[in-house]
Amino acid sequence: MNNGEYWNPILETLPREKLQVLQLKKFKEIFTWAYEHSRFYHKLYSDAGIEPGDIRKFDDIRKVPKIEKSMMRGIQGPGKEPFPYGDILCVPLEQVTDYRQTSGTTGQPVYQADTWQDWELGTEAYAYALWAQGYRASDRLFLPFGYNIFIAFWAYHYAGEKLGCEVIPGGVLNTEARILKIQELKATAMGATPTYVLGMAETARKMGINPPSDLCIRKITVAGEPGGSVPATRKRMEEAWGAKVYDQVGSTEIGHWGWECRHQSGLHVNEAFYLVEIEDVKTGESITGPGKRGKMVVTTFSRMAQTCIRFDVKDMIEWNARQCDCGRTFRLLEGGLKGRADDITKVKGVLLSPLAIEEVVRETPQLSPEYQVVVTKKGDIDDITLKVEILPGYKKDEAAIRAALTDQLRLKTNLGYNIEFHEYESLPRSQAKSRRFQDLRPH
Ligand SMILES: [Zn+2]
Repeated sequence: MNNGEYWNPILETLPREKLQVLQLKKFKEIFTWAYEHSRFYHKLYSDAGIEPGDIRKFDDIRKVPKIEKSMMRGIQGPGKEPFPYGDILCVPLEQVTDYRQTSGTTGQPVYQADTWQDWELGTEAYAYALWAQGYRASDRLFLPFGYNIFIAFWAYHYAGEKLGCEVIPGGVLNTEARILKIQELKATAMGATPTYVLGMAETARKMGINPPSDLCIRKITVAGEPGGSVPATRKRMEEAWGAKVYDQVGSTEIGHWGWECRHQSGLHVNEAFYLVEIEDVKTGESITGPGKRGKMVVTTFSRMAQTCIRFDVKDMIEWNARQCDCGRTFRLLEGGLKGRADDITKVKGVLLSPLAIEEVVRETPQLSPEYQVVVTKKGDIDDITLKVEILPGYKKDEAAIRAALTDQLRLKTNLGYNIEFHEYESLPRSQAKSRRFQDLRPH
């Protein structure tokens, strides 16, 4: 029985030099595996003139060609064998036990195959996160999600079981029924998207239930959106539930590579299962120290069916200089995901990250957490509209709120906005990933 701070005391506290030796060994193994078992990787590496024997030292990893989502779309789908995964698959189809797919907001989704061993190791990686967040066998977890073809929260379910927690699948229930079940069973923890966590609290209050005093949820793990690492959004969630909120990151193709521990000092990268590199967007050079933002390139060490080697995720991240107080040697990211490289867009000639807008909206106490940003073109000029909802009782303060928002947005984003006030609860709410940023300019 594990009573300590770490799920895996050896790996989570391994000195960096040893961790890097281990990572190089694991990289070589997965590279060799993919080179020998996947037609896609074999061709990619043969064309680039690189083979397993060429990876001798850590820096050699950077010679390995990167992959990106668009390449997967070309090799999967109708007519591609073995159907539907295509040439990327490293194992016979008979060994595949789990299917998931990306949510495919643009174009064809990516199909993801796992073997049973892949799934077990993915669960193990997630167990590190839940343990670090203080989940223990006495916890009763509630899962308010749809249990569908997307990866979200499936691993939370299995990792909860692995820790010995009691797991309640809140599948097809509606939000009201989920809240009642949480109350009835005195659930102590849950996992959901930040949008849904905030939406559930609103619904609960409407039902006459005050989550901090009437429910027992004290730990919430959020994923799927960056909100868990946006301080104002986190504060809203923690206050609405009277619970600690921990951020957790991952994706269909990679798995669950990063999480916050109880000290909430930033996202730890699970370096026993993943190699995370940060690359300068303009120069392509590797960023190894803190203070500089770049895009994330990640390798999964333990996913054999459809492995992911030097995947250019297009998420922007930055190393944190700090060592976490928890004593883990796994590196920390500064403040979580900094938005997608694709989402950072030029508006009126200024680089805009939608996350900066979220921070301003969620810091304004008279507004609901929902908002939408729409960028259009009027003639030759970009036009940004920010739609927000005023909470009941504050309508009379509209002018003052508008002035404060305008100032803060100007300060944080260097841009002017048309601010539209909408009735409370009139903007769309969603359980899945919210797309609050719409760029309607012709491309
Ligand atoms: Zn820590």
